[in-house]
Amino acid sequence: TKRAKSTGRVEAYQNSAFALAREQFAMETSLRRAIEDRHLRLNYQPICDLATGAITSFEALSRWTDEQGQEFSPCDFIPVAEESGLIVPLGRWAIDEAARTLAGWDRLAGGNCGVQLAVNLSAIQLQRDAIAPVLQQALSDHGLTGDRFTLELTESAIVSDPDGITETMHALKALGARLAMDDFGTGYSNLAHLQKLPIDILKIDRSFITGMLADRDKVAIVRAILSLAQALGMRTTAEGVETVELSQTLAALGCNHGQGYIYARPLEADAALAFLLHSRTSAATTSAIASTR
Ligand code: C2E
Ligand code: MG
Ligand code: MG
Ligand code: MG
Repeated sequence: TKRAKSTGRVEAYQNSAFALAREQFAMETSLRRAIEDRHLRLNYQPICDLATGAITSFEALSRWTDEQGQEFSPCDFIPVAEESGLIVPLGRWAIDEAARTLAGWDRLAGGNCGVQLAVNLSAIQLQRDAIAPVLQQALSDHGLTGDRFTLELTESAIVSDPDGITETMHALKALGARLAMDDFGTGYSNLAHLQKLPIDILKIDRSFITGMLADRDKVAIVRAILSLAQALGMRTTAEGVETVELSQTLAALGCNHGQGYIYARPLEADAALAFLLHSRTSAATTSAIASTR
């Protein structure tokens, strides 16, 4: 019976592994169709200047609702896209869609709407596709300049292919784009690489920001990242800013930008533009009131 028991366990394991593989395959099939039919969407989350509160950019985040109406998190479908190679068409779509949205905002604002868009790039996508020509195409298709874009990459992209990534990063910089190191502090950062690569922005991972006010170790890490960034001439963005206290503390520590639910959750494109325009009128009203005092 001991033996039967362990056989049963192996079978249960095999069944669940099989079920998982089947689930992944089903997801891959419907994700492929969603990309072809352009059924993915981008949501846009504001990134604010911590000193002034002004929105300086938005991060574009992929969203997918399948035909059954089930909403998937990018944390679930990006890995499937990476394993299946679908990350290449998905990544191309994201750059084109972000450029289309930004050009639309400019039209509605009657000129340059004054914000940048940040688009995420995965390590596997960077290995498999030439991103600079993809961005260049999107810029010319939508009549935009490269300085309107930030590309976010993770430490794993550098670890996996330091030479290839260096070339890609310089090509993106040549187009005028900015480069951000996403989720900084969670990967295997090689600080020598960090210094050699043309990175403009360090995004401090949310895990260091959440609960920071009650955790001296987290504050120490955040301070260290901020002074590293300053020494290397990089700007900083804190992820996961969920409270006013956090935004004030981060501003006092010298962090440049904040992103998080305290400002807004990721929004649909039209809601994001409305949020931007509204934030400016209310800021103008506030300063007009202040100047009459
Ligand atoms: P990320 O690039 O670090 O993006 C920030 C994530 O944190 C987003 O999750 C955002 O909704 C979430 N977030 C923002 N503010 C807060 C906050 O105050 N509190 C909390 N708890 N969360 C906050 P999301 O949209 O689920 O995306 C997850 C990850 O999926 C992204 O992390 C990014 O790595 C990846 N991803 C999303 N879209 C794309 C894409 O188009 N291409 C690639 N390659 N990756 C993408
Ligand atoms: Mg990101
Ligand atoms: Mg991030
Ligand atoms: Mg993150």
